[in-house]
Amino acid sequence: MYLSKYFLPVLKEAPREAEIVSHQLMLRAGMIKQQSAGIYSWLPLGLKMLRKVEQVIREEQNRAGAVEVLMPTIQSADLWRESGRYDDYGKEMLRIQDRHERDMLFGPTNEEMITDIFRSYVRSYKDLPLNLYHIQWKFRDEVRPRFGVMRGREFFMKDAYSFDLDEPSSRAAYYRMFVSYLRTFDRLGVTAVPMRADTGPIGGDLSHEFLILADTGESEVFCHGDTMKLPVPDRNIDYSDDAAIEGIFKDWTSNYARTDEMHDENLWNEVAEGDRMNARGIEVGHIFHFGTKYSEPMGAKVTGPDGKDHDVYMGSYGIGPSRVVAALIEAGHDENGIIWPDSIAPFDVGLINLRVGDEAVDTACVDLYNQLTNAGFDVLYDDTDGRAGGKFALADLIGLPWQLIIGPRGLKNGEIEVKHRATGERENLTMEATMNKLTAWQKDVNERFGG
Ligand code: ATP
Ligand code: MG
Repeated sequence: MYLSKYFLPVLKEAPREAEIVSHQLMLRAGMIKQQSAGIYSWLPLGLKMLRKVEQVIREEQNRAGAVEVLMPTIQSADLWRESGRYDDYGKEMLRIQDRHERDMLFGPTNEEMITDIFRSYVRSYKDLPLNLYHIQWKFRDEVRPRFGVMRGREFFMKDAYSFDLDEPSSRAAYYRMFVSYLRTFDRLGVTAVPMRADTGPIGGDLSHEFLILADTGESEVFCHGDTMKLPVPDRNIDYSDDAAIEGIFKDWTSNYARTDEMHDENLWNEVAEGDRMNARGIEVGHIFHFGTKYSEPMGAKVTGPDGKDHDVYMGSYGIGPSRVVAALIEAGHDENGIIWPDSIAPFDVGLINLRVGDEAVDTACVDLYNQLTNAGFDVLYDDTDGRAGGKFALADLIGLPWQLIIGPRGLKNGEIEVKHRATGERENLTMEATMNKLTAWQKDVNERFGG
């Protein structure tokens, strides 16, 4: 992408209402624009990150055996009357009437709709286990939308729903999603710690939240330090091995790890003082096992091997990709801007032309741009005629992991300056050495974080 042709409306200063750094940086880097309270447009740079996060989540859902669908944002109130949640959900639900005065709503979640899909088609235990997910906009009329897309009213969510014949197989489905979340956040380059959670209005008896540690997090977390050191299963994981998957779940839940909502001082005091980690965190994922809470009132049954009808056992599993983008920034930034994890950045490389109009420099830049692009790198080429300082500041602000700086002086020696955003390290390299370095980096990133 040539910067001169891109749409990257950066701001000199963050608007005053932006209280936390991710919100400030997302506005300054031209990633999002507020349209009304808690409702945002995603501009090209922001959308690129949102799509990348979404794709990692999708790949890990698929790997764990979930199947993608797409349900609408607008739902009929009648479905929610069947479960009893139309009245219970309260003011967070945006209620709408169509021209025939039928009650509709903008979905805050999809348990009812997915249960309706299930009961329309599935009759036999032989079709189970089944896990269906979609990645779709949700609306919740939050009392206090704030911190930008971190707590929006319209936000993006991946929500998966599992269906099983009985309680043990339903728990196994829960464990698979638990483990797929570990892999998802690992691939996103962050540590998200699973914590025992309250089930809230979704209901049920087994629930975990995944939290990314950051000072600005809304939750206070109490966790055993060892939890941070546990290994995450690699891409060769076998999701059909129920016992192995349950083992991973047990390893990750054996230590104390709770947010303020579920905190228990007595249990906490049993953790050795040197192991206690008390920090703040951002909830990025939440999974629930709730059995027959929806299938029973909505009549979602399957015939079992015994020939009898059984209410199907269910769980639901959410991750908010829009909140994740903001959380990645909370977890990775410095005074100059965003530092994306190696695994996921809007572009791999920033190519900075220090003397636009100088034929030798222009040619070298275009050549390198083509070479990099052909080798599979996503490059943002700063071909604008701005000042060097402004170009460096922009590359740092939007967090371009590698910055290749090309000017007439270096070029005379056949060299360009290569800067690594995360470490600040700089070196002068030939074009060939630069290509080799980036190729090695790309290979390493793919090995560690690839799908
Ligand atoms: P919170 O406790 O932060 O209000 P929740 O428990 O209401 O979240 P869930 O219903 O579990 O959220 O939703 C699943 C995921 O959707 C959350 O883990 C989060 O990543 C995301 N999410 C929920 N509410 C919002 C919101 N208002 N803005 C952005 N993302 C959200
Ligand atoms: Mg929650």
